[in-house]
Amino acid sequence: MISIAEARQHVLDHCRCLPSSPVALTEALDRVLAVDVVADRDIPAMTKALMDGFAVRVEAMDRFPEQLQVLGQVAAGQLPSHDVGVGQAVRIMTGAMMPRGANAVVPVEQTSGVGWADESMVRVTIEATSVQAGQHTMKQAAIAARGEVLVEAKTRLRPAAIAVLAEVGCAQPRVFARPRVAVIPTGDEVVAVDQSPPPGKLRNSNGPMLLTQARQAGGEAAELGIGPDERESLRAIISRGLQRDVLLLSGGVSAGALDLVPEVLSELGVAPIFHQVNIRPGKPLWFGVRETGDQRTLVFGLPGNPVSSFVCFDRFVRPALRALSGETTTSDCPEQLELLNSAPSQVGGRDAFWPANRIVPDDGVPVVEILDWRGSADLCTLSRANGLAFFPAGEPLREPGDRVEFYSML
Ligand code: AMP
Ligand code: MG
Repeated sequence: MISIAEARQHVLDHCRCLPSSPVALTEALDRVLAVDVVADRDIPAMTKALMDGFAVRVEAMDRFPEQLQVLGQVAAGQLPSHDVGVGQAVRIMTGAMMPRGANAVVPVEQTSGVGWADESMVRVTIEATSVQAGQHTMKQAAIAARGEVLVEAKTRLRPAAIAVLAEVGCAQPRVFARPRVAVIPTGDEVVAVDQSPPPGKLRNSNGPMLLTQARQAGGEAAELGIGPDERESLRAIISRGLQRDVLLLSGGVSAGALDLVPEVLSELGVAPIFHQVNIRPGKPLWFGVRETGDQRTLVFGLPGNPVSSFVCFDRFVRPALRALSGETTTSDCPEQLELLNSAPSQVGGRDAFWPANRIVPDDGVPVVEILDWRGSADLCTLSRANGLAFFPAGEPLREPGDRVEFYSML
């Protein structure tokens, strides 16, 4: 049986990022950029005013004149029509291009207009105590110069980066494809969510759980139906799942007589990479890869028990989906937090994850509360947890105040 770290490494070793294509800018949210995006011009493209006021010329040594001749005005988006010399000013609006000769803006609040003619100001009085060269202006290229890389390839695009792309005219950014994920829960005991289960059966909670976990991780996921515990029909539905980039099966990977998934996958040409990991819950996890021509499908045989499936997705499938979609940093760092209550004693010989809550008490120092979890079928407790506490195999029982690793969940 391999360790969690080894299993994760095997999975990542088989992930190569998917092809890229251009998408409309606002559709690129949360997608991963495939190329560096560079500034197509200086930012800002010209030296501009940062306040409404008067563009003036300041020269070292000179005492700044109290009254200036007003030559005209320039609004945002206009080209200035006057050069400004010492003793002169152009009325200017925020964002407007600085006139030639001007090197500072005196805010309108520090002036008063005098001498109006034909409804326009001809002179202005400066009430500011001092005027510094450069004040309230931004120099051309102060933020970035033309040709500079502004958003690097492999960045996941958030709204601020989308705005930068807009700023440099990148209307169709090239992004990596989202992994296409198929979800197939298996088991004759599993009935559809809208059915009333007859005695001995239960509803398909894994399907909607894995589908939404996959979507949350950036996948384009679809559930293909429930796979039966019967070889021929199981093979038919799995073949359909193998058309996608990632196939998530749940159930049928343990040691039971009807756990047919590994055999059927082999028959369909999926090469096994590992089966069973030293993790609790989730030990039966199966992972393999099928290559045909230029298509590669990563296949995860997740345990049937819902919390086991959930934890295996969280630890192994999510990093795979992130890597396929082009992200380079797929590691997640746990927080080291103090325990609020005792950790369960039955953790045993496997590395264990336990549903837990990160709580911030009044003193502001976060702690971990271990929940009263009833094992791998207990989704209800999992649904009240905001993360998973980690207990390495072979370590002594933890007491309140001991530190544990805590992985937060979305
Ligand atoms: P298996 O791994 O196939 O032996 O399944 C273990 C147990 O997980 C089953 O007995 C069911 O109780 C449960 N289980 C399997 N598949 C599902 C599913 N799709 N939704 C909810 N529970 C499931
Ligand atoms: Mg089963």
